[in-house]
Amino acid sequence: MQHILQIIYLVSSVTFILGLKYLGNPATARKGNLIAAFGMVLAIFATIFLYTFNEDGEEKHLGNLGFIFGALLVGTVIGWMIAKKVQMTAMPEMVSLFNGMGGACAMLISIIEFQHLAALSEESPFILITRAGGNITGHLLAIILGLIIGSVSFAGSMVAWGKLSGNVKDKSFVKQQFINIGLLVIILILGYLVVFGNGENTVVLFYATLTLSLLYGILFVLPIGGADMPVVISLLNSFTGVAAACGGFLYDNKVMLVGGILVGSAGTLLTIVMCKAMNRSLLNVLIGNFGGGASGEAATSANFEGSIKEVTPSDAAILMRYAKKVIIVPGYGLAVAQAQHVVHDLELLLEAEGVEVKYAIHPVAGRMPGHMNVLLAESNVSYDKLVEMEEINPEFNTTDVVLVVGANDVVNPAAKTDPASPIYGMPILEVENAAHVIVNKRSMKAGYAGIENELFYKPKTTMLFGDAKKALSQLVTEIKALG
Ligand code: NDP
Repeated sequence: MQHILQIIYLVSSVTFILGLKYLGNPATARKGNLIAAFGMVLAIFATIFLYTFNEDGEEKHLGNLGFIFGALLVGTVIGWMIAKKVQMTAMPEMVSLFNGMGGACAMLISIIEFQHLAALSEESPFILITRAGGNITGHLLAIILGLIIGSVSFAGSMVAWGKLSGNVKDKSFVKQQFINIGLLVIILILGYLVVFGNGENTVVLFYATLTLSLLYGILFVLPIGGADMPVVISLLNSFTGVAAACGGFLYDNKVMLVGGILVGSAGTLLTIVMCKAMNRSLLNVLIGNFGGGASGEAATSANFEGSIKEVTPSDAAILMRYAKKVIIVPGYGLAVAQAQHVVHDLELLLEAEGVEVKYAIHPVAGRMPGHMNVLLAESNVSYDKLVEMEEINPEFNTTDVVLVVGANDVVNPAAKTDPASPIYGMPILEVENAAHVIVNKRSMKAGYAGIENELFYKPKTTMLFGDAKKALSQLVTEIKALG
């Protein structure tokens, strides 16, 4: 029986790897998701029905099947309903919430397994030395790592969820970096004492580690400034993966180990890519003080030179119809307006008139990594038209018209020019190098980072106010009318 179980685990692990590979491309991502989900279902049912363990010399199967299936049913129904209902633009909130649940699972596994060890302690539950005389160091190490990483991930993800849904505001406090570093050091010392200490007060040390890890999770995400949230989300994601891998060690469960390591390593790679894209250091993320606003006052519209100039849809249409090259910059507003289909219509129309059209994709445009790619793939925009930031930036100075649709932070020049700005240092799409910039949004309101944008006041920029779907439809109509 155990051989069959191990073979099923192997098959599941392969489906996870295949799933990840397919997820790398929007065209195959759906298939990838389904393959990996199938592997996960297989692994869960194989564990429930085939896993055996020895108790009192007897080989036993898992018990409590009523509880297990009850929990599976409740979790599946809730998860299914949330995922069905969620708006594309609320995806990061959902990812944070689900990620937090993964962290909470790892944390609970550690607490429960620690209780088992404590219960086996011969002297007192507060003194935990050996488990029936055996060496428990490895076991305790996996428990404490799962506890620390899982609880940081859980608490951090909950704060991230609150911030993304607008219910929790950024909050930095005096000497916050030092407090976070100090807290991290104390947690590591406590964790060390739980595993390698003399066994005295282990239970107290364990729960102190748990409390401080939860506190650290809150404190390290709380001050993180708006535009830097994507990095934190992917970092928390990788934490949950590593915490799950600790569970794999604990239970000697290969598929849990592989799944956890895959999530952990994919999340870590994504974090590194995001850090590079945002020009931030990983250390700064970990001690929780980046992008929260540098010292000094960021520039506001009162300091900007120039003025706001509106453009009518018909003038904008003429500019674009007679251009040689147009670059479209999609942002969060395009997703909110669900304007991906109409933007594709506009692209096709312009191309039919001999205009070269490309899309400039910023790594953190929208509200989740790859948001714009997914959105535009939905409307069948050809993948080779989506050009990444480093590649497209040198092209702006040979571009006649840039059409910014519902993007704001990713084209904000303050990232390059204003050291007091919370997004200072983040690479942006250098749209102002083009001959004309048309910005479509509904008002002069700020983007996610909550800061004003000098681009809107530049001499080359004109504003096309209105909902993205409506404004793009008007452009399509006007261009058609030009013949
Ligand atoms: P922003 O959030 O900076 O700006 C979006 C703009 O779209 C707003 O200024 C808004 O202006 C406009 N808008 C909203 N609704 C509409 C609509 N219906 N029609 C037209 N315009 C609309 O978006 P960006 O894509 O430029 O930047 C993304 C930001 O989100 C970055 O700061 C990034 O760090 C952050 N983020 C990214 C995540 C990711 O993983 N990609 C995750 C979490 C955060 P108005 O209200 O005036 O219309």
